[in-house]
Amino acid sequence: MTTAPIRYFIRPIHPAAHRFEISCHVTAPDPEGQRFALPAWIPGSYLIRDFARHIIAIRAEAAGKPVALRKLDKHTWQSAPVKGNAPLTVTYEIHAWDLSVRGAHLDETHGFFNGTSVFLRVVGQEESPCLVDILPPPDQRFANWRIATALEPARGEKGGAKKYGFGVYRANNYDELIDHPVEMGTFTLATFKACGVPHDVAITGRHDCDLERLTADLKRICEWQIRFFGEPAPMRRYVFLVTAVGEGYGGLEHRASTALLCSRNDLPYPGMQGLPESYRTFLGLCSHEYFHTWNVKRIKPAAFTPYDLDRENYTSLLWAFEGFTSYYDDLALLRSGVIGLKDWLELTGKTISNVQRSPGRLRQSLAESSFDAWSKFYRPDENTPNTVVSYYAKGALLALALDLTLRRETQGKVSLDRVMHALWQRYGKTGLGVGEEDIRQLAEELSGLRLGRFFADYVEGTRELPLKSLLGKFGITLKWTSDNPSLAPSLGVKTSAEGNEVKLATVFSGSCAEAAGLAAGDVLLACDGLRVTPGNLTRLLSRCRPGQTIRVHAFRRDELMKFSVRLDSAPRDKAVLTAAKGKQRLAWLGA
Ligand code: ZN
Repeated sequence: MTTAPIRYFIRPIHPAAHRFEISCHVTAPDPEGQRFALPAWIPGSYLIRDFARHIIAIRAEAAGKPVALRKLDKHTWQSAPVKGNAPLTVTYEIHAWDLSVRGAHLDETHGFFNGTSVFLRVVGQEESPCLVDILPPPDQRFANWRIATALEPARGEKGGAKKYGFGVYRANNYDELIDHPVEMGTFTLATFKACGVPHDVAITGRHDCDLERLTADLKRICEWQIRFFGEPAPMRRYVFLVTAVGEGYGGLEHRASTALLCSRNDLPYPGMQGLPESYRTFLGLCSHEYFHTWNVKRIKPAAFTPYDLDRENYTSLLWAFEGFTSYYDDLALLRSGVIGLKDWLELTGKTISNVQRSPGRLRQSLAESSFDAWSKFYRPDENTPNTVVSYYAKGALLALALDLTLRRETQGKVSLDRVMHALWQRYGKTGLGVGEEDIRQLAEELSGLRLGRFFADYVEGTRELPLKSLLGKFGITLKWTSDNPSLAPSLGVKTSAEGNEVKLATVFSGSCAEAAGLAAGDVLLACDGLRVTPGNLTRLLSRCRPGQTIRVHAFRRDELMKFSVRLDSAPRDKAVLTAAKGKQRLAWLGA
């Protein structure tokens, strides 16, 4: 039996008012009444977002007559049974004013949407093929708009889209439909091939990007990654959808594309010398999302096969999907020759320092951080650094520690690379979900080692990773220093400057500020009677000695409060990595 495709139409009906109009046409609706639902979250971003809150004016009709729709919960509607099994059409508008990689956005400069924000799921027909007619705005002013997406144009279909054109696109099922974000507008387009696979880079927003430089660097990174997992690449084409703004940073992975938000200053400009840190960060973001093409979009936790789009999907494995990806994103830059060893040591040192600066690493394990991503990592507050460990940053360090442990214990025969390859062969290529114990078991099977202790300590537990000794065996020295060259005593807080005010963003667990009773949100006024400003706090403290007690005045809400703080010494929480002489021991970095 072949099922008739679900047919969607989406039109940016009113760009100035940020409204898309969508209709969904179902040939064979459920005779008991057809249910429609919009996802509560978007895969890759583990927070309930309730995209249906942006739906306005929803209605249904069949054979030219209205059909009643009943709302069942925050994101589900059910139609009345349709007489004579006639096709059913639901039409609705979406308010699209979220300029992030996760939602939908529309104004007179461009449109962008994720399928999770705009396409209702036809409950029970998720496996039916989908046709989407992407229509242009109804105004000649937008006649030069075009489309960038990794969705396949529906060739052979009436109105089938031409490359970069409006028209009909297709997806094999709903899951595929919502995994291909769409950009429309007057974006800049650059193209390149990586291992023969066509890649597009579509840049929206004002920018002066040196496209030649960008595509040359991306090509190296992409080719390295395709070869790392093995040719042929799992996608027929790939699209980088980049939105350049004044300030912004974010990325979301998809099976054949990625949506990226960056500062226009992160992009390379004509005549740019060397590799500025901002561009290096942008390439790291591209490398990260591209690595996800394999690791999380195809090698998936069992909890995501399939995704349950109505609610949280719990897995304790995000350290492997985000952490390993974070390890390989920078490593891919190094191994593809886009950055040098000095850059990689600096980036890795920063990751080590970041983890060291969050007391949460001693309270929460990587497995717990993954499981609780929905309510903790994705919902940060003033106490997050004290209670949460990042499965990105510590996950990347876990990957480094596991890689070096495997290499050391097998005399270089087995590495994390081998584990990734095996994950790809066994899970990625077959679509089998990765179970909660599978990564440990696979690493044990490949290496012949017993890794129960390693995983119990560093994944299930909160033991500090033995990075100094592991790195030392592989030609890299780790030294701890302080970020603060004057070694000024510390209050043990993170501050934020608001105008001329210094506000406490976080009071670290175990710090002198915590002991004295200072709290997040307090506005610092004076230390020992001298006014605190955003520029002078370190200078004021540098006149003091660790262990010295000072008076601190602060406002808590509108109440003036006085604290007596016995100063901590400057934390030595900055990791500096240096390579030893002799290339032999560093060979693994180029492997
Ligand atoms: Zn990621």
